[in-house]
Amino acid sequence: MNVATWLDRNARQLPDHAAIADGARVHATWRDWAARSAALSTGLRELLGLSTGDRVAIIMRNRPEYLEAQFAIWRAGLVAVPVNARLHRDEIAFVLSHSGTSVVVADEEHAEDISSLVGEVPSLRTVVVAPGEDWQRLLASAAGPLVDRAPGDAAWLFYTSGTTGRPKGATLTFRNLLMASLSYFADVDSVTPRDSILQSAPLSHGAGLYGLPHVAKGATSVIPISGGVDGEEIAWLLDRWSGMSLFAAPTMVRRLATDPHVVNANLDHARTIIYGGAPMYLADLQYALDVIGPKFAQIYGQGEAPMTITGLSKADHAARDHPRFEQHLQSVGVPRTDVEVRVVDEQDVDVPVGELGEVLVRGEVVMPGYWEEPEATAETLRGGWLHTGDIGAFDEDGYLTLHDRSKDLVISGGMNIYPREVEEALLHHPAVEAVAVTGRPDAEWGEALVAFVVPSDGTKPPSPAELDAACLDRLARYKRPKEYRFLDALPTNNYGKVVKRELRDQLQAEAHTGSAPGTTQEPPV
Ligand code: AMP
Repeated sequence: MNVATWLDRNARQLPDHAAIADGARVHATWRDWAARSAALSTGLRELLGLSTGDRVAIIMRNRPEYLEAQFAIWRAGLVAVPVNARLHRDEIAFVLSHSGTSVVVADEEHAEDISSLVGEVPSLRTVVVAPGEDWQRLLASAAGPLVDRAPGDAAWLFYTSGTTGRPKGATLTFRNLLMASLSYFADVDSVTPRDSILQSAPLSHGAGLYGLPHVAKGATSVIPISGGVDGEEIAWLLDRWSGMSLFAAPTMVRRLATDPHVVNANLDHARTIIYGGAPMYLADLQYALDVIGPKFAQIYGQGEAPMTITGLSKADHAARDHPRFEQHLQSVGVPRTDVEVRVVDEQDVDVPVGELGEVLVRGEVVMPGYWEEPEATAETLRGGWLHTGDIGAFDEDGYLTLHDRSKDLVISGGMNIYPREVEEALLHHPAVEAVAVTGRPDAEWGEALVAFVVPSDGTKPPSPAELDAACLDRLARYKRPKEYRFLDALPTNNYGKVVKRELRDQLQAEAHTGSAPGTTQEPPV
């Protein structure tokens, strides 16, 4: 099934209903969007000479034309390559070359940079600027038919954010997109045409996937004018649009919950805040639940199993009377309806409940492989299971708790230390805004734990002794960091995920040049 058929269906059932909104303004009704999509898809094939299976990248900030391009690409039987517009030019060049992209649809802001890649990226023929004259030319084409696609045909090449290495393109098929959408209805939320989804996070990543079930059911996709998360704007849009859901990275949840505009907004219009993509710290979640209420749902997924491995439902977030409520809040929830999830040892043998191992997943939502990477595909999908690289454990209730990506594990003095639990402990200190813990090479210990601490605004930076005490309150002595360093901000990638690799690399480099301080540093005063 070609998911672009949803537009035609909605155009018949809800012709005058808002389909895409630019802030408070209706950009297109379902009738408009379906008509534009039908014209654009003809334009892509006939004016740009594209044929079924060709790759077309989208490089623009969130805007209505993004969604128009994405669905027109599918309608025309082409493969969409959504690229995060905030990537470096060289990273973009890599993705375009690797995917063999021949046409890019870009907004004006990015068009010049991307155009300079024509000639440098062998497959790239042209860049279409949207909105703009090229876009208008495509829109002036006659309406073309929807190109039939099989469930196993590629729809979306999802380049992973690369916190752990060179990006790889998970090939997401129409089957994968459909299963991810159906699973959203099964486990996360129902959606009706009276609902809306606020697209604040980059559409090239998770937010684009969460948008699909909303398109399927005729809800309105609302693109914020600010292009991001702005509390005042969100409050204003909550007045205008009802049943509003949004996808937020954990760091965004914290920002929303502490923003007075959001807290005092018309929260009756807020439906579900879906968070995921990185660990959510308990203290932040509890605070958000207190001020916003049980409107949260958590999702654990990967590009390779789009937004669908486990989920912590809204009911779980509301179950304060459950004896293990807090443990559940610290987990990533239970396996989603459409997948099987296992936790295994290094030989892929299941480990008992409570024991840590790698998380494996199998189901129709899992990608068939990485684009043009047969070796990485065979390795990741060995035995028919997706090897996530995430380390976790099931509890006796069937909830999965993630500890770390296997590469994040630090082994110090022969003891395994999972940085996540040390971070959780340090975040209990009121003067700690954010923290990332990782290891540095150490002659005595093999690796020594280093905590990079961002002190809270306006509070006195905590002393290493206080931070030690926060750890000792909750953790075994050996898990205390050997060193604390203080930063203004943690390095993050374009999706807001903390890039520990940079911190680890910095520590490695210091070890090689012998410049590692090796002692606990005092905070700046
Ligand atoms: P990506 O493919 O770029 O979306 O990254 C997927 C990775 O993000 C997963 O393998 C996990 O390591 C992490 N991740 C995703 N969802 C969650 C979650 N709910 N809690 C903790 N980590 C998560």
